[in-house]
Amino acid sequence: MRSALRPPHVTQAAFDAALDAFRIAIGDAAVITSTDGLAVYLDPFAPGDARQYSASAALMPASVDEIRAVLVTANRYRIPLWTVSTGRNFAYGGASPRIAGSVVLDLKRMNRVLEVDETLAYAVVEPGVSYFDLYQYLLARHSSLWLDPPASGWGSVVGNTLERGFGATPYGDHAAMQCGMEVVLANGDIVRTGMGAMRNSNSWQVFKAGFGPSYDDMFMQSNFGIVTKLGIWLMPRPAGYRLCHFKFRHDSDLAVIIDTLRPLRLDDTIQSQAVVEHAIRWAAGVSTRRQWYDGAGAMPDAAIDAMASALGIGRWNLRFGLYGPEELVAARFRVIERAFARIPDARLDADGYMNASSMPKGGGDGSQVGIPSMAAFQLLNWRGGNGAHVDLSPICPPTGRDALAQYQRVRARAAEYGFDYYGGFTVGPRHMHHIFAAIFDKDDATQTQAARALIEALIEQLGAAGYGQYRTHLAFMDLAASQYDFNDHALMRLSERIKGALDPQGILSPGKQGIGGARFKD
Ligand code: ADP
Repeated sequence: MRSALRPPHVTQAAFDAALDAFRIAIGDAAVITSTDGLAVYLDPFAPGDARQYSASAALMPASVDEIRAVLVTANRYRIPLWTVSTGRNFAYGGASPRIAGSVVLDLKRMNRVLEVDETLAYAVVEPGVSYFDLYQYLLARHSSLWLDPPASGWGSVVGNTLERGFGATPYGDHAAMQCGMEVVLANGDIVRTGMGAMRNSNSWQVFKAGFGPSYDDMFMQSNFGIVTKLGIWLMPRPAGYRLCHFKFRHDSDLAVIIDTLRPLRLDDTIQSQAVVEHAIRWAAGVSTRRQWYDGAGAMPDAAIDAMASALGIGRWNLRFGLYGPEELVAARFRVIERAFARIPDARLDADGYMNASSMPKGGGDGSQVGIPSMAAFQLLNWRGGNGAHVDLSPICPPTGRDALAQYQRVRARAAEYGFDYYGGFTVGPRHMHHIFAAIFDKDDATQTQAARALIEALIEQLGAAGYGQYRTHLAFMDLAASQYDFNDHALMRLSERIKGALDPQGILSPGKQGIGGARFKD
């Protein structure tokens, strides 16, 4: 059955004419209009009715030329196109468009690894290449390079990097490791950024800036263009590694953990994105809530303590990897151990030194050594039922005071709404991503509604305290964007001016990060 939905402000006759033109441009099979075919573009973790963000059709071009042909028609009929690479942006909206009735531009068929340079340590990929694909590609060629996987390996390298996703190795800040893009603009022009702007460039993936203004960042978390190629730096496989798991007994230890960690991250003694996880997040990876607590409301402290001691974990659990030759790893470990040993009741466990080509011990976390997985999905079983989650993702300065302030606010608010604190901090040198997931049973309307209300309340509360989101679900994009309000929203005015100049018809991903959605407001 064909979807009855169409893009806002587009007549049925115009939409039909556009669909015919799309079929001519990219082939019948690549134009999806049936409700069954469009079901995959519904948000699987929607904190409410997923149909609120339904697409009216989806297009699957197979090349840059096909994208350009699609743009001609989209401009002609003013059809909003919501670009996704593989559409696995779960917890933030999946493949769903911000404006219902938009047409999803699904780039998963453009899935070639275009280049891997072993000497200069980078890859160039198309949007449809997943982390699993790139991993298999490297493995098959006995590559000496590691990729940095995000939480779930099935997502796209391009999609995750553009969303500024992150992982746990020294290359964990994906946006920072990006170098060189090819972008198709709304008018069909193809631009290569940085050194790639030279037709005969031999340095596209080795120097970000080029000559003059640099635009790569402008195409991240934006709707200014369609990225069709992306360079990503890969980590030369180290001689070996050591994975460390430190456990801290007391809830209030969070502050001293972060204050101890910060200087070690700043001076690069700890080379990787360190992760500080609450006991519940750790436990949700290996067990279900009912094993520990079956009452109503958030898990009480006594139950969390009992669970932590049964699992042999702390209230807070720090993990990070050390990488390189054994002598250097040993030296780093000694410095780190000395710093953390000052925290009362801390347990400083670490695996032995491992050769880089061996798997982490005891089925440990492969994502710390460049192996993508789907282990993160285990959290869906925590609460039982048909599990889903929606995330809160504020940026937090790496100080104990800020970490504690965010944690205490989030935990208390979550408890008011009946949610456990499932969260943790990923610690870079100068900032932390604080990620809290509201886990809910999507078959339970009350829980689903509460999850949405909780995240919204928290974004408001944290925003009022000066903490902004780095990424958010479609449902909260306008709210999160509105908090970036210096000088009466000067940043949004700048974004809207750029949007108007690059995409006067407003066809590319309207509403993305709150930009370019105004014409659909009614
Ligand atoms: P993943 O599957 O890796 O989670 P998605 O394909 O869902 O990533 O992309 C996440 C978001 O990034 C999309 O919602 C979109 O806003 C943006 N995006 C993805 N691919 C592109 C692209 N090729 N060009 C521009 N923006 C993109």
